[in-house]
Amino acid sequence: MKTHRRLNKAGKIALLSLIIFIFFIILSIKLISYKGKKEIHILKSGKYYQLKINYPLLHDKKIDKKIKEYVDEKKQEFLDIVDQIEHLETDNKYDFIIQYQLNKEDDIYHIHLETYSYTGGEHYQKDDKTFHYDIKRKEFITIEEYLNDESSLEKLSLLSYYYIMEYGEENGKEFNEEIVKEYTSSKNENFIHFNIQEDGFEFLFALYQETDWIDGEIKIIIPYKELNELLKPKYQKQANKKDIEVIVPETRDLEQYKGKKLIAFTFDDGPSTETTNLLLDGVKEFDAKVTFFVIGNRINQHSEVLKRAYKEGHVIGSHTYNHRNLLLLNDYTRLQEIKNTNDIIENTIGVKPILLRPPYGNINDDIKKLSNMHIIEWDIDTLDWKYKDKDKIANEIITNAHDGAIVLLHDIYKSSVEGALQAMAQLKEEGYVFVTILEMAELKGITLDYETSYFYFK
Ligand code: ZN
Repeated sequence: MKTHRRLNKAGKIALLSLIIFIFFIILSIKLISYKGKKEIHILKSGKYYQLKINYPLLHDKKIDKKIKEYVDEKKQEFLDIVDQIEHLETDNKYDFIIQYQLNKEDDIYHIHLETYSYTGGEHYQKDDKTFHYDIKRKEFITIEEYLNDESSLEKLSLLSYYYIMEYGEENGKEFNEEIVKEYTSSKNENFIHFNIQEDGFEFLFALYQETDWIDGEIKIIIPYKELNELLKPKYQKQANKKDIEVIVPETRDLEQYKGKKLIAFTFDDGPSTETTNLLLDGVKEFDAKVTFFVIGNRINQHSEVLKRAYKEGHVIGSHTYNHRNLLLLNDYTRLQEIKNTNDIIENTIGVKPILLRPPYGNINDDIKKLSNMHIIEWDIDTLDWKYKDKDKIANEIITNAHDGAIVLLHDIYKSSVEGALQAMAQLKEEGYVFVTILEMAELKGITLDYETSYFYFK
């Protein structure tokens, strides 16, 4: 009896310890499994509806709370509608789905939630929500976090406009230019849905909210090749340039030309294998470096001479792709004319041009802004294309030459090349130095801007 009682007491203690022990084991298992849990699933089915919700769990109070708030709000909106129905008018149950994509890059989570809800009618309603959350700093961020300066948002706006229009063109859809412009205007809130991909930034534009296009949701990727100049250095990524041959151009010491009379010969409408080579051979005698404003659609056929010109220290600028009057085009076509030329020049010589000579010299402030290039006009017009007379061309240049002048010529005509060389021979006697537009600006101490049209240099 005595022994039994003692055992009983010891047994009680043992039992209590065991219960506490098991309790803690269960608690830790629960905690571990919660910590390990990466997402929440909710599956629910009512008489008239079904719910299927998936959303991520990041184990960070701030972001998890925001996500849950969004999910709860959307779910409640749906359930409020469901509560009011007494019977279904269709065979289909009302339906509610939330799904997500999650991506982490540089401590920043990009969480995109998509809500689809069907409450009768023909279509599901869709809602998009994107969170960008810096898990280290515990802060929500916007696209601004990535952008370099104030002008970057404007450039992003233009690029987005261009890529959406291009997407439309490639997919046989005619997008309303004005609506696309509105949705891509340079406001932060237009760029809330983005994600970071291997090759660039992906942007989602939910245009269906205001249009009845069937494919109102457009995803575009802006590649790093275009994006890097907009991004803070830490967010830039190596653009894919593997196939581009790197040409190292000859340079020369500009000190020797300081204080001398300078003149910039510029050649439009090329390149042209025969006549451009003739010019490149000829200018050597005069230590002349010139500027070429080339037409994009000619480059593939005359790429070797373009490479040679660049290698020998001449400057390559753009004269657009198809030599169309930019004033008469819509913004998308203007951008196409400019971008396609820049791309093909970059693919040929390894660098993008920074100088633009608009065809016929036609430009306005909108196009300047669009192009983001330095606009170079001229003040000596030889009308070489009209006369095709080398003496007349040479004479026109010699008569009008002055320090800082920009001469307009076309290297697709033999007479223009010969006239130019003839003028150089005379002007050299008069003490002139033949420089590129970039050398001229540097020697004159001028930093080229994006607002001015340069006709000559003072
Ligand atoms: Zn031209």
